Amino acid sequence: MSGGRYERQLSLSEIGVSGQARLGASSALVVGCGGLGSTLLFNLCGMGIGRIGFCDGDVVSESNLNRQFLHTPADIGRSKTQSAYEKLSAFAPELTLEPFDFFVSQQNAVSLVSGFDLVLLAVDSVPARMIVNNACVSKGIPLIDGGVNGFHGSLITYRPNRTSCLSCFYGETKPSKDPIISSFAPVVSVIASLEAQCAANIFLDLFNPTDGRLLLFDGLSMKTEFVSLSKNPHCPVCGSQH
Ligand SMILES: [Zn+2]
Repeated sequence: MSGGRYERQLSLSEIGVSGQARLGASSALVVGCGGLGSTLLFNLCGMGIGRIGFCDGDVVSESNLNRQFLHTPADIGRSKTQSAYEKLSAFAPELTLEPFDFFVSQQNAVSLVSGFDLVLLAVDSVPARMIVNNACVSKGIPLIDGGVNGFHGSLITYRPNRTSCLSCFYGETKPSKDPIISSFAPVVSVIASLEAQCAANIFLDLFNPTDGRLLLFDGLSMKTEFVSLSKNPHCPVCGSQH
């Protein structure tokens, strides 16, 4: 006899009935419906985050399919957010899913992130990271950023008024055309899954190892290391926060 969709995680002492209710009452926005976004969105749906937004203005291309498990060959040329919405609403029909079929920009970022408890970055562009970082700092919203390049992955969490923001260590970056970044599904999936775990840590008030600490992962050796990052008092984005 089935004990319900969340039976296998309700039995965890860190979650239980009250923790599951907290997850169900939480909201998260994922920026990017590509490789990181695919695994991340399935994880957020699987754990039962009650309201999930996702944003991407891109369309599916054949070269996405080595790692972007939300999309199939039949989706080539279609909107990534529409493709994602179809798969995720079939997977988790009880959740509120909000597709945003456009790229994040300076003009829309603040209104996009407003109203979400948490934002997760799943993009491969530094300028897009900075735009979302600035919006999250201005609205006081926690932000989780995952990145991949070949067999290497990275992960960090920004907590308002407590940790460095992304701009503290990226500095000021000028918009540039990003080179093609190599991507291999296992590493992409590891980093995306760790982003989801960080989200759970935040929603459940558990210790979050990437608060202000950059996690570096090497997919070949499977080694991880943490690099502590200090808040930059002269950061142009969060420097005035205490
Ligand atoms: Zn900063």
